[in-house]
Amino acid sequence: MYSENAWDKYTKEELEKVDALATSYMDFINNGKNERLVVKESIKLLQEKGFKHISEVNELVPGTKVYYVNRGKNVCAYVIGKHKLVEGIRVLGAHIDSPRLDLKQNPLYEKDGFALLDTHYYGGVKKYQWVTIPLALVGVVVKKDGTVVDINIGLDENDPIVGISDLLIHLSGEQLTKPAGKVIEGENLDVTIGSMSLKDKNVKDIVLEALKEKYGIEEEDFLSSEIEVVPASKARFYGIDKSMIAGYGHDDRCCAYTSLRAILDINEVPSFTSCTILVDKEEIGSVGATGAQSRFFLDTIVDLLVKKGEYTPTSLATLLSASKMLSSDVSAGYDPLFASVYEPKNSCYLGKGIVFNKYTGSRGKSGCNDCSPEYFAWIRNVMDENKVNYQTAELGKVDQGGGGTIAYILGNENMDVVDAGIAVLNMHAPMEVISKADLYEAYLAYKAFLLK
Ligand code: MN
Ligand code: MN
Repeated sequence: MYSENAWDKYTKEELEKVDALATSYMDFINNGKNERLVVKESIKLLQEKGFKHISEVNELVPGTKVYYVNRGKNVCAYVIGKHKLVEGIRVLGAHIDSPRLDLKQNPLYEKDGFALLDTHYYGGVKKYQWVTIPLALVGVVVKKDGTVVDINIGLDENDPIVGISDLLIHLSGEQLTKPAGKVIEGENLDVTIGSMSLKDKNVKDIVLEALKEKYGIEEEDFLSSEIEVVPASKARFYGIDKSMIAGYGHDDRCCAYTSLRAILDINEVPSFTSCTILVDKEEIGSVGATGAQSRFFLDTIVDLLVKKGEYTPTSLATLLSASKMLSSDVSAGYDPLFASVYEPKNSCYLGKGIVFNKYTGSRGKSGCNDCSPEYFAWIRNVMDENKVNYQTAELGKVDQGGGGTIAYILGNENMDVVDAGIAVLNMHAPMEVISKADLYEAYLAYKAFLLK
Protein backbone atom coordinates (compact mmCIF):
# COMPACT_ATOMS: atom_id res chain seq x y z
CA MET A 1 0.00 0.00 0.00
CA TYR A 2 2.02 2.84 -1.37
CA SER A 3 1.87 6.32 0.14
CA GLU A 4 -1.25 5.90 2.23
CA ASN A 5 -1.92 7.01 5.78
CA ALA A 6 -1.33 3.96 8.00
CA TRP A 7 -3.62 5.16 10.80
CA ASP A 8 -6.69 4.73 8.55
CA LYS A 9 -6.22 0.99 8.31
CA TYR A 10 -5.92 0.07 12.00
CA THR A 11 -8.70 -1.75 13.81
CA LYS A 12 -8.99 -1.44 17.59
CA GLU A 13 -6.99 -4.67 18.01
CA GLU A 14 -4.28 -3.42 15.69
CA LEU A 15 -4.05 -0.13 17.54
CA GLU A 16 -3.36 -2.10 20.69
CA LYS A 17 -0.52 -3.87 18.89
CA VAL A 18 0.82 -0.50 17.70
CA ASP A 19 0.85 0.70 21.31
CA ALA A 20 2.36 -2.50 22.69
CA LEU A 21 5.23 -2.33 20.19
CA ALA A 22 5.80 1.35 21.03
CA THR A 23 5.92 0.62 24.74
CA SER A 24 8.35 -2.27 24.41
CA TYR A 25 10.49 -0.14 22.10
CA MET A 26 10.58 2.69 24.63
CA ASP A 27 11.82 0.26 27.29
CA PHE A 28 14.47 -0.93 24.85
CA ILE A 29 15.87 2.55 24.18
CA ASN A 30 15.59 3.63 27.82
CA ASN A 31 17.88 0.73 28.70
CA GLY A 32 19.92 0.81 25.50
CA LYS A 33 21.52 4.24 25.68
CA ASN A 34 24.70 3.12 23.91
CA GLU A 35 25.74 0.27 21.63
CA ARG A 36 27.04 -1.99 24.41
CA LEU A 37 23.79 -1.63 26.34
CA VAL A 38 21.75 -2.31 23.18
CA VAL A 39 23.74 -5.51 22.64
CA LYS A 40 23.07 -6.55 26.25
CA GLU A 41 19.34 -5.91 25.85
CA SER A 42 19.31 -7.73 22.52
CA ILE A 43 21.02 -10.83 23.95
CA LYS A 44 18.45 -10.89 26.76
CA LEU A 45 15.57 -10.78 24.26
CA LEU A 46 17.20 -13.39 21.98
CA GLN A 47 17.72 -15.82 24.85
CA GLU A 48 14.13 -15.34 26.01
CA LYS A 49 13.01 -16.39 22.53
CA GLY A 50 15.16 -19.53 22.47
CA PHE A 51 18.14 -18.23 20.48
CA LYS A 52 21.42 -19.85 21.55
CA HIS A 53 24.94 -18.52 21.34
CA ILE A 54 26.67 -20.29 18.43
CA SER A 55 29.14 -21.92 20.84
CA GLU A 56 26.27 -23.85 22.46
CA VAL A 57 24.95 -25.27 19.18
CA ASN A 58 26.20 -28.52 17.65
CA GLU A 59 24.00 -28.87 14.61
CA LEU A 60 22.31 -26.39 12.32
CA VAL A 61 18.98 -27.62 10.97
CA PRO A 62 15.99 -25.71 9.58
CA GLY A 63 14.50 -23.75 12.48
CA THR A 64 17.72 -23.54 14.54
CA LYS A 65 18.04 -20.10 16.18
CA VAL A 66 21.55 -18.83 16.89
CA TYR A 67 23.39 -15.59 17.54
CA TYR A 68 26.93 -14.27 17.43
CA VAL A 69 28.38 -11.38 19.44
CA ASN A 70 31.40 -9.30 18.48
CA ARG A 71 33.28 -7.40 21.20
CA GLY A 72 30.07 -6.60 23.03
CA LYS A 73 29.10 -4.14 20.27
CA ASN A 74 27.66 -6.21 17.41
CA VAL A 75 25.09 -8.92 17.56
CA CYS A 76 24.09 -11.07 14.61
CA ALA A 77 21.12 -13.44 14.90
CA TYR A 78 20.04 -16.17 12.48
CA VAL A 79 17.07 -18.47 12.02
CA ILE A 80 18.11 -21.30 9.70
CA GLY A 81 15.70 -21.67 6.76
CA LYS A 82 14.45 -24.57 4.66
CA HIS A 83 16.60 -23.72 1.64
CA LYS A 84 20.35 -24.24 1.54
CA LEU A 85 22.38 -21.26 2.66
CA VAL A 86 23.98 -20.92 -0.77
CA GLU A 87 20.53 -20.26 -2.22
CA GLY A 88 20.68 -16.90 -0.42
CA ILE A 89 19.68 -15.43 2.93
CA ARG A 90 17.48 -12.48 4.01
CA VAL A 91 19.32 -9.86 6.01
CA LEU A 92 18.11 -6.96 8.13
CA GLY A 93 20.99 -4.68 9.11
CA ALA A 94 20.72 -1.68 11.42
CA HIS A 95 23.17 0.39 13.41
CA ILE A 96 23.04 0.80 17.16
CA ASP A 97 25.46 3.68 17.68
CA SER A 98 23.95 7.15 17.94
CA PRO A 99 25.42 10.65 17.97
CA ARG A 100 26.66 11.65 21.42
CA LEU A 101 29.67 13.10 23.23
CA ASP A 102 32.56 10.80 24.16
CA LEU A 103 34.87 11.56 27.06
CA LYS A 104 38.42 12.29 26.00
CA GLN A 105 41.16 9.95 27.17
CA ASN A 106 42.33 12.54 29.71
CA PRO A 107 38.98 14.12 30.48
CA LEU A 108 39.07 15.42 34.03
CA TYR A 109 40.13 18.93 34.99
CA GLU A 110 39.34 21.58 37.52
CA LYS A 111 38.72 25.19 36.60
CA ASP A 112 37.64 28.12 38.76
CA GLY A 113 35.82 26.02 41.31
CA PHE A 114 34.28 23.40 39.00
CA ALA A 115 35.27 19.85 38.07
CA LEU A 116 34.70 19.23 34.38
CA LEU A 117 35.04 16.42 31.84
CA ASP A 118 36.40 17.20 28.41
CA THR A 119 34.60 15.54 25.47
CA HIS A 120 34.98 14.88 21.78
CA TYR A 121 31.66 14.64 19.98
CA TYR A 122 30.81 11.45 18.06
CA GLY A 123 28.89 11.65 14.79
CA GLY A 124 27.13 14.68 13.35
CA VAL A 125 25.77 16.93 16.09
CA LYS A 126 24.45 20.47 16.25
CA LYS A 127 26.58 21.42 19.23
CA TYR A 128 24.18 24.07 20.52
CA GLN A 129 21.54 21.34 21.10
CA TRP A 130 23.62 19.63 23.79
CA VAL A 131 23.83 22.43 26.36
CA THR A 132 21.45 22.97 29.28
CA ILE A 133 19.79 19.54 29.01
CA PRO A 134 19.95 16.65 31.50
CA LEU A 135 22.83 14.35 30.56
CA ALA A 136 24.02 10.98 31.80
CA LEU A 137 27.36 9.14 31.65
CA VAL A 138 27.27 5.54 30.43
CA GLY A 139 30.03 3.19 29.38
CA VAL A 140 32.88 1.13 30.71
CA VAL A 141 36.20 1.60 32.42
CA VAL A 142 38.62 -1.27 31.92
CA LYS A 143 41.22 -1.58 34.62
CA LYS A 144 44.77 -2.79 33.97
CA ASP A 145 43.95 -6.25 35.31
CA GLY A 146 41.19 -6.56 32.71
CA THR A 147 38.26 -5.93 35.05
CA VAL A 148 35.44 -4.19 33.18
CA VAL A 149 33.57 -1.67 35.33
CA ASP A 150 30.16 -0.55 34.05
CA ILE A 151 29.57 3.17 34.48
CA ASN A 152 26.03 4.47 34.67
CA ILE A 153 25.41 7.88 36.21
CA GLY A 154 22.20 9.79 35.57
CA LEU A 155 19.79 7.24 34.13
CA ASP A 156 18.36 6.11 37.45
CA GLU A 157 15.93 8.75 38.74
CA ASN A 158 17.68 8.70 42.13
CA ASP A 159 21.03 9.49 40.52
CA PRO A 160 22.31 12.99 39.98
CA ILE A 161 22.52 14.11 36.35
CA VAL A 162 25.33 16.03 34.67
CA GLY A 163 25.22 18.70 31.98
CA ILE A 164 26.88 21.38 29.89
CA SER A 165 26.38 25.04 30.64
CA ASP A 166 25.51 27.85 28.24
CA LEU A 167 25.98 31.56 28.59
CA LEU A 168 23.14 33.46 30.24
CA ILE A 169 21.02 35.47 27.80
CA HIS A 170 21.87 38.70 29.65
CA LEU A 171 25.50 38.49 28.54
CA SER A 172 24.98 36.83 25.16
CA GLY A 173 24.99 39.90 22.92
CA GLU A 174 28.23 38.88 21.21
CA GLN A 175 27.58 35.11 21.28
CA LEU A 176 24.25 35.53 19.44
CA THR A 177 25.89 37.31 16.51
CA LYS A 178 27.91 34.14 15.75
CA PRO A 179 26.81 31.55 13.15
CA ALA A 180 24.99 28.57 14.75
CA GLY A 181 27.98 26.29 14.12
CA LYS A 182 30.14 28.56 16.31
CA VAL A 183 27.71 29.54 19.09
CA ILE A 184 28.95 26.54 21.07
CA GLU A 185 32.42 25.33 20.07
CA GLY A 186 33.37 21.64 20.20
CA GLU A 187 36.11 22.35 22.72
CA ASN A 188 33.53 23.96 25.01
CA LEU A 189 31.28 20.90 25.21
CA ASP A 190 32.64 20.09 28.65
CA VAL A 191 30.50 18.36 31.22
CA THR A 192 30.18 19.83 34.72
CA ILE A 193 30.46 17.10 37.36
CA GLY A 194 31.25 18.88 40.61
CA SER A 195 31.61 22.14 42.51
CA MET A 196 32.29 21.23 46.14
CA SER A 197 35.62 21.95 47.79
CA LEU A 198 36.89 21.85 51.38
CA LYS A 199 39.84 23.47 53.19
CA ASP A 200 42.03 20.44 52.57
CA LYS A 201 40.45 19.04 49.39
CA ASN A 202 39.88 20.63 46.04
CA VAL A 203 36.93 19.98 43.73
CA LYS A 204 38.74 17.43 41.61
CA ASP A 205 39.83 15.40 44.70
CA ILE A 206 36.25 15.16 45.90
CA VAL A 207 34.99 14.01 42.52
CA LEU A 208 37.76 11.41 42.27
CA GLU A 209 36.94 10.15 45.76
CA ALA A 210 33.30 9.71 44.75
CA LEU A 211 34.33 7.75 41.63
CA LYS A 212 36.69 5.60 43.68
CA GLU A 213 34.00 4.86 46.23
CA LYS A 214 31.28 4.02 43.70
CA TYR A 215 33.35 2.30 41.00
CA GLY A 216 36.79 1.56 42.47
CA ILE A 217 38.52 3.51 39.71
CA GLU A 218 41.44 5.96 39.69
CA GLU A 219 41.95 8.96 37.44
CA GLU A 220 44.46 7.06 35.29
CA ASP A 221 41.80 4.41 34.54
CA PHE A 222 40.10 6.94 32.23
CA LEU A 223 42.92 6.07 29.79
CA SER A 224 41.26 2.73 29.08
CA SER A 225 37.63 3.74 29.27
CA GLU A 226 34.79 4.31 26.88
CA ILE A 227 32.36 6.70 28.53
CA GLU A 228 29.61 8.35 26.54
CA VAL A 229 27.63 11.43 27.45
CA VAL A 230 24.01 10.82 26.46
CA PRO A 231 20.65 12.48 27.14
CA ALA A 232 19.39 11.33 30.57
CA SER A 233 15.66 11.63 29.82
CA LYS A 234 13.45 8.65 29.10
CA ALA A 235 11.44 8.24 25.90
CA ARG A 236 7.92 9.67 26.09
CA PHE A 237 4.81 9.70 23.96
CA TYR A 238 4.73 12.91 21.95
CA GLY A 239 1.67 14.93 20.96
CA ILE A 240 -1.71 15.19 22.68
CA ASP A 241 -2.91 12.30 20.50
CA LYS A 242 0.11 10.23 21.65
CA SER A 243 0.76 9.43 17.99
CA MET A 244 4.52 9.90 18.23
CA ILE A 245 7.49 8.92 20.40
CA ALA A 246 10.12 11.41 21.52
CA GLY A 247 13.42 10.00 22.63
CA TYR A 248 17.16 9.81 22.23
CA GLY A 249 18.73 7.52 19.63
CA HIS A 250 15.82 6.70 17.31
CA ASP A 251 18.59 6.87 14.68
CA ASP A 252 18.95 4.00 14.41
CA ARG A 253 17.60 2.08 17.37
CA CYS A 254 14.02 2.30 16.08
CA CYS A 255 15.13 0.26 13.07
CA ALA A 256 17.43 -1.92 15.18
CA TYR A 257 14.61 -2.79 17.56
CA THR A 258 12.06 -3.54 14.84
CA SER A 259 14.65 -5.57 12.89
CA LEU A 260 15.44 -7.54 16.03
CA ARG A 261 11.74 -7.91 16.94
CA ALA A 262 11.05 -9.23 13.43
CA ILE A 263 13.53 -12.09 13.80
CA LEU A 264 12.53 -12.71 17.44
CA ASP A 265 8.92 -13.17 16.36
CA ILE A 266 9.60 -15.78 13.68
CA ASN A 267 7.66 -18.79 14.92
CA GLU A 268 7.78 -20.90 11.77
CA VAL A 269 10.72 -22.21 9.76
CA PRO A 270 11.43 -19.52 7.14
CA SER A 271 12.04 -20.52 3.52
CA PHE A 272 15.35 -18.70 3.42
CA THR A 273 17.66 -18.23 6.39
CA SER A 274 16.78 -15.02 8.27
CA CYS A 275 19.42 -12.72 9.69
CA THR A 276 19.37 -9.55 11.77
CA ILE A 277 22.72 -7.86 12.27
CA LEU A 278 23.22 -4.85 14.52
CA VAL A 279 26.38 -2.87 13.91
CA ASP A 280 28.34 -0.06 15.54
CA LYS A 281 30.23 2.98 14.16
CA GLU A 282 27.78 3.91 11.36
CA GLU A 283 27.77 7.51 12.51
CA ILE A 284 31.52 7.80 11.91
CA GLY A 285 31.78 5.83 8.67
CA SER A 286 31.05 2.18 9.60
CA VAL A 287 34.77 1.62 10.19
CA GLY A 288 36.73 -0.61 12.54
CA ALA A 289 36.22 -4.08 13.97
CA THR A 290 32.65 -3.40 15.07
CA GLY A 291 31.44 -1.33 12.10
CA ALA A 292 29.55 -2.66 9.09
CA GLN A 293 32.80 -2.82 7.10
CA SER A 294 34.27 -5.29 9.59
CA ARG A 295 34.83 -8.90 8.49
CA PHE A 296 32.66 -10.00 11.40
CA PHE A 297 29.43 -10.37 9.44
CA LEU A 298 30.97 -12.36 6.57
CA ASP A 299 32.82 -14.51 9.09
CA THR A 300 29.54 -15.49 10.74
CA ILE A 301 28.21 -16.58 7.35
CA VAL A 302 31.34 -18.62 6.61
CA ASP A 303 30.98 -20.22 10.03
CA LEU A 304 27.37 -21.19 9.25
CA LEU A 305 28.42 -22.59 5.85
CA VAL A 306 31.11 -24.72 7.52
CA LYS A 307 28.86 -25.91 10.33
CA LYS A 308 26.10 -26.77 7.88
CA GLY A 309 28.50 -28.68 5.60
CA GLU A 310 27.97 -26.31 2.67
CA TYR A 311 31.38 -24.66 2.62
CA THR A 312 33.32 -24.65 -0.65
CA PRO A 313 35.77 -22.07 -2.05
CA THR A 314 32.88 -20.38 -3.89
CA SER A 315 30.00 -20.88 -1.46
CA LEU A 316 30.31 -17.47 0.25
CA ALA A 317 30.23 -15.66 -3.10
CA THR A 318 27.28 -17.75 -4.25
CA LEU A 319 25.39 -17.08 -1.05
CA LEU A 320 26.00 -13.33 -1.11
CA SER A 321 25.02 -12.88 -4.74
CA ALA A 322 21.74 -14.71 -4.07
CA SER A 323 20.96 -12.77 -0.87
CA LYS A 324 18.68 -9.84 -0.21
CA MET A 325 19.10 -7.16 2.40
CA LEU A 326 17.22 -4.25 3.91
CA SER A 327 19.64 -1.69 5.22
CA SER A 328 17.41 -0.57 8.04
CA ASP A 329 18.07 3.07 8.76
CA VAL A 330 16.05 6.16 9.47
CA SER A 331 14.98 8.74 6.93
CA ALA A 332 14.48 12.53 7.12
CA GLY A 333 10.79 13.01 7.92
CA TYR A 334 9.11 16.00 6.26
CA ASP A 335 8.95 18.93 8.68
CA PRO A 336 6.51 21.74 7.75
CA LEU A 337 8.62 24.22 9.73
CA PHE A 338 11.53 23.61 7.35
CA ALA A 339 9.61 22.80 4.16
CA SER A 340 12.12 24.51 1.87
CA VAL A 341 14.74 21.74 2.15
CA TYR A 342 12.36 18.96 1.06
CA GLU A 343 11.03 18.01 -2.37
CA PRO A 344 7.43 17.13 -1.43
CA LYS A 345 6.75 14.24 -3.81
CA ASN A 346 10.01 12.52 -2.90
CA SER A 347 9.84 13.10 0.85
CA CYS A 348 8.65 10.82 3.63
CA TYR A 349 5.89 11.75 6.03
CA LEU A 350 5.19 10.63 9.59
CA GLY A 351 2.36 8.08 9.62
CA LYS A 352 2.68 6.83 6.05
CA GLY A 353 4.65 3.72 6.90
CA ILE A 354 8.13 2.38 6.31
CA VAL A 355 10.34 4.49 4.04
CA PHE A 356 12.43 3.06 1.21
CA ASN A 357 15.34 5.07 -0.14
CA LYS A 358 16.38 3.69 -3.50
CA TYR A 359 19.49 5.76 -2.98
CA THR A 360 20.95 8.09 -0.37
CA GLY A 361 24.30 9.85 -0.89
CA SER A 362 24.83 13.52 -1.60
CA ARG A 363 25.39 15.82 -4.58
CA GLY A 364 24.97 13.53 -7.57
CA LYS A 365 24.22 10.41 -5.47
CA SER A 366 27.87 10.27 -4.45
CA GLY A 367 28.69 7.25 -2.30
CA CYS A 368 25.24 5.68 -2.46
CA ASN A 369 24.09 2.13 -3.09
CA ASP A 370 21.26 2.89 -5.59
CA CYS A 371 19.25 -0.31 -5.54
CA SER A 372 18.19 -1.93 -8.79
CA PRO A 373 14.60 -1.59 -10.10
CA GLU A 374 14.48 -5.40 -10.32
CA TYR A 375 15.01 -5.65 -6.58
CA PHE A 376 12.68 -2.78 -5.79
CA ALA A 377 9.87 -4.37 -7.82
CA TRP A 378 10.30 -7.48 -5.65
CA ILE A 379 10.10 -5.29 -2.54
CA ARG A 380 6.90 -3.56 -3.74
CA ASN A 381 5.34 -6.94 -4.24
CA VAL A 382 6.26 -8.12 -0.71
CA MET A 383 4.85 -4.92 0.81
CA ASP A 384 1.55 -5.11 -1.09
CA GLU A 385 1.10 -8.84 -0.48
CA ASN A 386 1.40 -8.19 3.25
CA LYS A 387 -0.61 -4.94 3.28
CA VAL A 388 2.30 -2.95 4.66
CA ASN A 389 2.13 0.82 4.31
CA TYR A 390 5.25 2.10 2.65
CA GLN A 391 6.57 5.26 1.06
CA THR A 392 9.69 6.28 -0.83
CA ALA A 393 11.95 9.26 -0.28
CA GLU A 394 15.23 10.99 -0.95
CA LEU A 395 17.18 12.70 1.78
CA GLY A 396 16.00 16.26 1.05
CA LYS A 397 16.25 18.28 -2.12
CA VAL A 398 19.01 17.68 -4.65
CA ASP A 399 22.10 19.75 -3.71
CA GLN A 400 20.71 20.42 -0.22
CA GLY A 401 23.05 18.04 1.62
CA GLY A 402 22.71 14.30 2.06
CA GLY A 403 23.95 11.39 4.05
CA GLY A 404 24.94 7.74 3.95
CA THR A 405 24.02 4.42 5.49
CA ILE A 406 25.50 0.91 5.58
CA ALA A 407 23.65 -0.07 2.36
CA TYR A 408 26.62 0.32 0.00
CA ILE A 409 28.90 -1.82 2.18
CA LEU A 410 26.83 -4.96 1.71
CA GLY A 411 26.01 -3.86 -1.83
CA ASN A 412 29.76 -4.04 -2.44
CA GLU A 413 29.61 -7.70 -1.40
CA ASN A 414 27.25 -8.27 -4.35
CA MET A 415 24.00 -8.46 -2.40
CA ASP A 416 20.73 -6.79 -3.38
CA VAL A 417 20.34 -3.99 -0.84
CA VAL A 418 17.90 -1.14 -0.34
CA ASP A 419 17.56 1.35 2.50
CA ALA A 420 14.39 0.85 4.48
CA GLY A 421 13.53 2.62 7.71
CA ILE A 422 11.49 5.05 9.71
CA ALA A 423 10.92 8.77 9.17
CA VAL A 424 12.50 10.83 11.95
CA LEU A 425 12.09 14.49 12.91
CA ASN A 426 15.02 16.29 14.58
CA MET A 427 17.44 13.60 13.41
CA HIS A 428 20.63 13.55 15.52
CA ALA A 429 19.16 15.92 18.13
CA PRO A 430 19.14 14.79 21.77
CA MET A 431 15.37 14.38 21.34
CA GLU A 432 14.31 12.79 18.07
CA VAL A 433 10.69 12.09 17.10
CA ILE A 434 9.07 9.20 15.20
CA SER A 435 5.49 8.04 14.58
CA LYS A 436 4.20 4.96 16.40
CA ALA A 437 2.48 3.89 13.18
CA ASP A 438 5.74 3.94 11.26
CA LEU A 439 7.46 1.89 13.96
CA TYR A 440 4.72 -0.71 13.59
CA GLU A 441 4.76 -0.70 9.78
CA ALA A 442 8.55 -1.11 9.80
CA TYR A 443 8.16 -4.15 12.04
CA LEU A 444 5.52 -5.62 9.69
CA ALA A 445 7.72 -4.89 6.68
CA TYR A 446 10.81 -6.47 8.21
CA LYS A 447 8.95 -9.58 9.21
CA ALA A 448 7.29 -9.93 5.81
CA PHE A 449 10.69 -9.52 4.15
CA LEU A 450 12.30 -12.24 6.28
CA LEU A 451 9.48 -14.67 5.59
CA LYS A 452 9.23 -14.07 1.80
MN1 MN B 1 21.34 6.14 10.81
MN1 MN C 1 22.68 9.11 11.74
